[in-house]
Amino acid sequence: MLANIEMPDEVPYALDYGAEGIGLYRTEFLFLDRNDLPREDEHFMHARGVVRRVAPFPATFRTFDLGVDKVAPFLAKMAGVAMGAPTDSEPNPALGLRSLRLCLRERGMFKAQLRGLLRASLHGRMRIMFPMVSGVQELRAAKAILEECKEELRREGIAFAQDIPVGIMIEMPSAVMVADHLAKEADFLSIGTNDLIQYSLALDRLNEHVGYLYQPLHPAVLRMIRQTVDAGHACGRSVGICGEMAGDSAFTELLLAMGLRSFSMHPAQILVVKQELLRADTRKRIRKLLGRSYV
Ligand code: PEP
Ligand code: MG
Repeated sequence: MLANIEMPDEVPYALDYGAEGIGLYRTEFLFLDRNDLPREDEHFMHARGVVRRVAPFPATFRTFDLGVDKVAPFLAKMAGVAMGAPTDSEPNPALGLRSLRLCLRERGMFKAQLRGLLRASLHGRMRIMFPMVSGVQELRAAKAILEECKEELRREGIAFAQDIPVGIMIEMPSAVMVADHLAKEADFLSIGTNDLIQYSLALDRLNEHVGYLYQPLHPAVLRMIRQTVDAGHACGRSVGICGEMAGDSAFTELLLAMGLRSFSMHPAQILVVKQELLRADTRKRIRKLLGRSYV
């Protein structure tokens, strides 16, 4: 049972609710309400505070997932991309230069974050996770920048943990289709169902007119979850879920049935889901639900 949080102050609250680590730390919230880029030292101090407080449990830092609903207007201006409202150059920001794509282009900003995270890694148990990975090339590009940061720190004589797991979010149908290849190059997978549902069913998750189409139980979504779990497990990788489906106790038994064992959610949802997890009989009920056993 892991927690999704956005601010260091939420750590004690997550632990009080029984979280055994942070499964999703939304680092982009460092950008809100400011007109400049966070510097490496800020990332370092911020991350160090979090890993220290979460220890001995792990804290999973998702690198910047900026764009659309996570808006940083000054950054949009700097990078010339649309954040929030469509522009002439980016009529469809949800499919535009956002999240990891933006980081791969704005390398200075990305490297400041990665170097800060690496420096903080010695102060607790850190995991790094890349969002919105569409395929193997993007994962390799992000990992290459991480390696570059490690090399720089080594040259500067700055220590960092040697065993930081580097994982990815599975949020796009393309990532599901190549999850077997991604799993070979990522230490763990975490399914972001909020975006996976949006991109699979071609509906804007913020658009009230098509909200009725937002169906976590759509067979296409369930198949994608299962395909990801199977691909990850075939490679011996841990596969978790950190989208809102993880925090809805109505789905707990089904997600267990599909082989998921790591659930990350808003801290307030932990107790209810935990109760459901403890009640679930992963042998009998699940076999009945899906007609075969995954345990
Ligand atoms: C997701 O897409 O499921 C997710 C957890 O990320 P976010 O909601 O921050 O996009
Ligand atoms: Mg997402």
